[in-house]
Amino acid sequence: MSILEKFMSGSPDEIWSASCEVAKCKNLELLDSISDDLEVIEQATAGIDLGGGFCPNSYHLKFALKKLRVVRKRGGCLCSLYPEYMFFNPIYEEKACSVTISEVAKIDGKWIDYYMCKCTNCHSLYRVEEREGHFTFWSWKKA
Ligand SMILES: [Zn+2]
Repeated sequence: MSILEKFMSGSPDEIWSASCEVAKCKNLELLDSISDDLEVIEQATAGIDLGGGFCPNSYHLKFALKKLRVVRKRGGCLCSLYPEYMFFNPIYEEKACSVTISEVAKIDGKWIDYYMCKCTNCHSLYRVEEREGHFTFWSWKKA
């Protein structure tokens, strides 16, 4: 099933899955083609209860729609979206060659406090705090 088909499926699980795919997607061409159908996607997903645990699944949908809006407006570098979503793991972002990590600060030499990350595209610098709650999440702030 394509991402668009998932959004249109009416199935909470598929919509959640499509949302996470869009959130993590780096393929601008693909994002661009999906964003052509933004209004249709918004209509098809509005009012569907997506469920979820400590973090509601609608959080992922909300972010996915926001990202598609930014892509469609050609709203600059996608790294500007890092602060809008708490599941951007700096380690994965570095593996995807989206950022380089220049510093890893630890607490008591054990737990990660924050990372310093630089966007490989626009060279913006971010301070990224890693935190544990019911799940691990990251708070990106422009440095
Ligand atoms: Zn950037």
